[in-house]
Amino acid sequence: MERKKERSPSRKQTAYEAKCRRCGRCCNDKYIVGDKVYVGEGACKYFDPEAKLCTVYADRHEVNPDCLSVRDGIALGVFPADCPYVADLPDYVAPSGRVVDAATLRLIERGKIVTSDELDEHLRRQAEREPRKDKKRSRGRR
Ligand code: SF4
Ligand code: SF4
Repeated sequence: MERKKERSPSRKQTAYEAKCRRCGRCCNDKYIVGDKVYVGEGACKYFDPEAKLCTVYADRHEVNPDCLSVRDGIALGVFPADCPYVADLPDYVAPSGRVVDAATLRLIERGKIVTSDELDEHLRRQAEREPRKDKKRSRGRR
């Protein structure tokens, strides 16, 4: 939800947009599984990861019909919990803190993971395996 260029915004609009901290996390890939939103490893193709800016900000909704307005993003729960647009909303539910990688996404697409409980369990097991992998790697380097 970042901007690179804009057309003479009003003062009100500028103040509203100034709330954004330019972390770029709301431009990450997002997947809705069951009743939860999960974040993927990649990002929107219009996102510049170096500058953490949208390259088509002024026309983003025309260029990318999947780009959500702040209102729709809040309703769907795509903003991280510490994003200034949602940080003060008492009932807001942020996306899962666990990232869906490409291998997990293939399982979802093939119907091997259907519910958010199944995905949470899969990601939990995956996270448990990760430290073991890291240990093996660091042992190999000695
Ligand atoms: S078009 Fe893509 S990069 Fe730009 S604000 Fe929307 S999601 Fe982010
Ligand atoms: S998550 Fe919030 S603070 Fe971060 S880029 Fe998106 S709107 Fe801005």
